[in-house]
Amino acid sequence: MDSTDFQLEFYYIAIKELLKVENIKTYYYDLYNLTLIEESMLNEKIEILAKKLNDLNTQKVNFDKCDNISTCQYCPYKTICNR
Ligand code: SF4
Repeated sequence: MDSTDFQLEFYYIAIKELLKVENIKTYYYDLYNLTLIEESMLNEKIEILAKKLNDLNTQKVNFDKCDNISTCQYCPYKTICNR
């Protein structure tokens, strides 16, 4: 699984911490069909999120500019990056 969207998982973690409750179900709201769709991969995505956050916990950061300049076209950092 290659997930990049963890918004629901952040909400889950926040509610779990704030309310100190277990057994929280999480749903997406399907705007087209006006129904709730349960997140069936919650635990797997939380594991991926934990790994991604752990990977960010480093003091070694590569500040080299990317090779493909087309990547920079919509990058929010291109001004300070001088691209
Ligand atoms: S502009 Fe953005 S994508 Fe391009 S090199 Fe800089 S940081 Fe990387």
